[in-house]
Amino acid sequence: MKYPFEKALPILEEIEKAGYEAYFVGGSVRDLLLNREIGDVDIATSATPEEIKGIFSKTVDVGIAHGTVVVLYQGESYEVTTFRSESEYDDFRRPNDVTFIRSLEEDLRRRDFTMNAMAMNKDGEIIDPFDGRAALQNKVIKTVGDASERFHEDALRMMRAVRFVSQLSFAIDSETFQALKEHGKLLSFIAVERITTEFEKLLMGQDYQQAIRLLIETGMYQYLPGLTSYKEELHAFQQLQLDRSFTIEEHWVILLYHFNLPPTEVESFMRGWKQPVKKIRSVQKGLSCLYKRMNSGWGIEELYRAQIELAVSTEKLFNVLMKKDKDYGIKQLEEQWQALPIKERSELAVTGQDLMAWYEQKGGPWIEERLRQIEIAVIKREIRNGKESIREWLFECNQP
Ligand code: ATP
Ligand code: MG
Repeated sequence: MKYPFEKALPILEEIEKAGYEAYFVGGSVRDLLLNREIGDVDIATSATPEEIKGIFSKTVDVGIAHGTVVVLYQGESYEVTTFRSESEYDDFRRPNDVTFIRSLEEDLRRRDFTMNAMAMNKDGEIIDPFDGRAALQNKVIKTVGDASERFHEDALRMMRAVRFVSQLSFAIDSETFQALKEHGKLLSFIAVERITTEFEKLLMGQDYQQAIRLLIETGMYQYLPGLTSYKEELHAFQQLQLDRSFTIEEHWVILLYHFNLPPTEVESFMRGWKQPVKKIRSVQKGLSCLYKRMNSGWGIEELYRAQIELAVSTEKLFNVLMKKDKDYGIKQLEEQWQALPIKERSELAVTGQDLMAWYEQKGGPWIEERLRQIEIAVIKREIRNGKESIREWLFECNQP
């Protein structure tokens, strides 16, 4: 059996030895059959969480109420989830209640798409009651059972459908597509964090262009945070050939660039997506830098202020917008950076302390102003970066 299933095999065997059923399920089985890189190997079992805890010595309670126990085994952790059906739903979110059952087929029935509703036993046999293999063959995403019903149970499935389009380059089955078109509004009931996770996977997927097109076509975009009024802009973004090596932050920058969003509005927009502060700052910086780059090239000072990482990122995005090769001019930019006499303030030969001593003045905003002047003179090679030469320059050539 192929890695990483092989490594997890003893877990199935242990559970079976104790008299229960156990299978690999969900995404890992799908990815195995697709020959894609396999992520987490999830296990479904007829044993209850308590029974699982009785079998393995190292377990972690992560979601006992939902039937999930993490089993730690040979340095890996595996989610082992009791077969369950989901009975009642509130507000189109996840189920209120889970009912543990002893039937694999019922467990597979509650899963979102037919391609995700397959299991594999310890002998590598595929259990596929909903024709998941045919869906993989035909490259279609199709809900298990009535699409409209399944989206009412949990509207996140709608976002999942579109993100799988992006990741797998599959098409959406016609009935499922119809339901996406009709029920976009249900997305407003879903926790934003869950939507964000799916949307970012969508952005990073190989076929994000097709997925964004789908968000527009189905009207789903109207129910995503802050996107309601950007139909045309999304359309323009969707036509962009973005290399798959761009980071998630870079994707946000170029998206917001298409919205022509002022940098001052990035914070409230990104907060709408419940993004962490650090990421918001990074996107804000990236967007400001890209706007500047659209107006002018890289002067020494601009490069120094941006620092090389942001400069390269900005230049690549700029190239994409200009329909040039993304690496166009990057080498020269790096050489320009390498040639800078200093890369940051801390490398300057003088400090605020020196200035206070030389001018016999107390600290204040004047120090920052002076240091900036010195920095610029140094990076432009108007003065050498040494204490004496800077002092001379200040007092002889550059008296205020
Ligand atoms: P990925 O490769 O991104 O992990 P995945 O299909 O494994 O994709 P997970 O979120 O890890 O996605 O979920 C594991 C499995 O649980 C899915 O394959 C599917 O069978 C089921 N599942 C996940 N989310 C839902 C949902 N909202 N509704 C129904 N079933 C779901
Ligand atoms: Mg998974």
